[in-house]
Amino acid sequence: MSTKASQSTTLKAAVETAYEHAKPLGGGKNADYIPYLASVPSDLLGVAAVTREGEVHQAGDSQYAFAIESISKVPTLALVMEAIGPEKVRAQIGVDPTGLPFDSVMALELHRGKPVSPLVNAGAIATASLVPGANAEARWKAILDMQSRLAGRQIELSDEVNQSEQTTNFHNRAIAWLLYSAGSCYSDPMEAVDIYTRQCSTLVTAVDLATMGATLAAGGVNPTTGERVVSAEVVPHILAEMMMEGLYTGSGTFAYEVGLPGKSGVGGGVLAVSPGRLALSGFSPPLDGDGNSVRGLAALRSASVSLRLDLFGTA
Ligand code: GLU
Repeated sequence: MSTKASQSTTLKAAVETAYEHAKPLGGGKNADYIPYLASVPSDLLGVAAVTREGEVHQAGDSQYAFAIESISKVPTLALVMEAIGPEKVRAQIGVDPTGLPFDSVMALELHRGKPVSPLVNAGAIATASLVPGANAEARWKAILDMQSRLAGRQIELSDEVNQSEQTTNFHNRAIAWLLYSAGSCYSDPMEAVDIYTRQCSTLVTAVDLATMGATLAAGGVNPTTGERVVSAEVVPHILAEMMMEGLYTGSGTFAYEVGLPGKSGVGGGVLAVSPGRLALSGFSPPLDGDGNSVRGLAALRSASVSLRLDLFGTA
């Protein structure tokens, strides 16, 4: 067997094993502060891997379309980093972990209204306020376009998810006003939160997520379309943010166990990127206390260990 064929067999087996390992696990609970998320069947489980060459492996419910939620913070960060550069992102939002939950108001208070991380809600709302565009619709279109180019197919807004979020997002609206009062929201705050809420309400599959991650793994070139979506200089900064804050208060544990930059969402999706190689994704709605998918994490842990992807490994 050629090296390529044998790598392909190994990856296929790792994805299948990760799925079988995670499938029987219980625990966790669907997010219910967004009513739509509580209604998604809890027994769904999908696992996918996409390599930088565009090879796709998948198992289980890997084609089920679920709400992207917080994972949307990565495409919007990519868009804004491209537009204003990593240094302005650092100055205007911050690039450090907060050590506090994703929707923490205390984190804002502790840093005089500066969000500190683009991957918590406050920082993501601030990031959305920095998306270039003549008006709200143009900015929203740019975000949807970035999600689509990273996934390699047209991503769509779910009116049902969006409606469910827009009618319950009072906490995020409060965060947006706090940001604005501190000078950390760079557009009308209700417009920023509206765009942010829409970006969380698109539907993706585990394969879409892994393709988005594979685009980052490949230095910004989408392996399925061949399009350069993000410039190579920006990618390491995005991955650094994912490593530090991508899994909320579970980011340290994820680095400890999986050893890869990742991003999760309260819809049950979770993504990990092995720079220069591939991306792994999992989807399963029940979440742990940090807000991360219990079975998604288990699948990613399994695949990272069997494929020896841990970035801190020295073997
Ligand atoms: N739309 C959700 C919120 O803003 C996303 C949160 C998440 O996935 O962490 O609360």
